[in-house]
Formats: sequence, C-alpha cells, structure tokens
Amino acid sequence: MQWFSVTALAVLGTVMVVHPDVTGRRSLAAEVVAGASTPVAQQAPEVKSTPTPTPSVHLTTPLRPAPTLTRQPKGAKPNVTASSGKLSVVPGVDKATGVRDKLTYRVEIEQGVSVNPAAVAAAIHKTLTDARGWQAVHPVSFERTDKADVDLRIIVATPTLTDKLCLPLDTGGEVSCRVEDRVVLNAKRWMYAVPAYGGDVALYRSYLVNHEVGHALGHGHSTCAKAKTPAPVMMQQTKGLGGCRPNAWPTIKAT
Ligand SMILES: [Zn+2]
Repeated sequence: MQWFSVTALAVLGTVMVVHPDVTGRRSLAAEVVAGASTPVAQQAPEVKSTPTPTPSVHLTTPLRPAPTLTRQPKGAKPNVTASSGKLSVVPGVDKATGVRDKLTYRVEIEQGVSVNPAAVAAAIHKTLTDARGWQAVHPVSFERTDKADVDLRIIVATPTLTDKLCLPLDTGGEVSCRVEDRVVLNAKRWMYAVPAYGGDVALYRSYLVNHEVGHALGHGHSTCAKAKTPAPVMMQQTKGLGGCRPNAWPTIKAT
C-alpha cells in the first residue's frame, strides 16, 4: 500500500501510474514504455481504484500436476481446492540487488494448499529478478520480505479464496487477478498451468507472476499481434494464445 501511495513516483521513475489496467485502453505506463507519450508530471497515482480483471473463463484442468513444488503423500492428489481460508506468510528475505528503487513484496500461501512455500517464494523471486523480467523495463528492483509493511502481497490461494480476495472482480474459480496491493495467483493454475503451455508449468508460473505484477506496475492488456510470435506477457494467455507462442517475459516481444 505504502508503495502505491507514497513511493510510486520514485519506483516508476517517469512512468506514471494513473489509470492502470483499463481494459481496451493502453495504460499510460505502456505508452511511455513504447515511447508514445510523455507522462504528466507529479500526478497522484490512483492505483487502488482500478482493479484488474482477468475475465472469467472455464478451463479444463490438465491431467498431470506439476512435478515440482508440490508436497503430498505419494500417489495422493495435491490439494488445490479445499480452502482453509487462512493465509500464511512465507518466512525469509530475498534482498534486492542494485541501486534502483526497491519494491517490497511478501509471499502468502493459503494453509493446506499442496505446495512447498519456500520453493514457491524462490520461484517467484527468480521470475521477478530474471534478466528478461520487469527489472529490465522499469527502474525497479524487487525485494521479498516477510514483514507486514510491504508494497505488494503475492498470494497463492485456492479458487475459493482467490475469488474472495479478487472481489469485486469475477475470477470464476479459474483465473488469477491483481486488486489493489494484492496479486492473487489461483493455486489451480499454479499447479496445473493451462493446456496451451504444453506442460511447461514453470514457464506458465513465470507468466502468471509477471502478468499480474505487470498490472501492479501499470500495464494493461495486449493481444497477439502476429501468429507464431511470442505472446505479449500482458496478453491474457490463460484464456488462450490466439495463435501466438507461450511467453512469460516482458522483454521478449514479437519482431
Ligand atoms: Zn490481466
């Protein structure tokens, strides 16, 4: 919360978050990134008023769970649907590197979900600090903490709790969202990804993290511009790829 209200200007440098994530309209941040406009100086960001829908879609769940980052008795089905409604913060710190503006985040996982919390946190941090990620686009560096006061909460939750945390958006038990300071990743998608990713669950997880954090950084949606080229990370790839290829990284674009 604090980041949005107090330090958003510093974090984003010249990229102002004014009305992030309005469907059908390029966000100002996206325009600035594309060099299409000059940001309005010193305008207060209004991040919280415009939650990010990832529209409701109904997906068939792939048969095999991801082989990694799960924790369940041998042969048992991992739990991603039975909701305890309680979140646990993953303990520990992953320091930001460099001198850029620091964005702090915390990873929270719903109790009872069959994932290894430390491995989930490690995967998220690896994605956020990847050379192909947002740190190459924005003057920001990501630091994971377990403190109460953070800029962003990244939550892995059952479909039931995801739907609650995403309100007033409709995530339909299937998709993920970003609302205010919450990035809510649907545990079902974290575990099983989507068929279009052809079993590359790790890549889909990176997509999920980068897409929803991209909203928090002010980016709206984009679409597949040319078949067989990498899908934009801000495309709603969970709904389908529109002929594009799976892609998790904001720096990888169609040429
Ligand atoms: Zn989205």
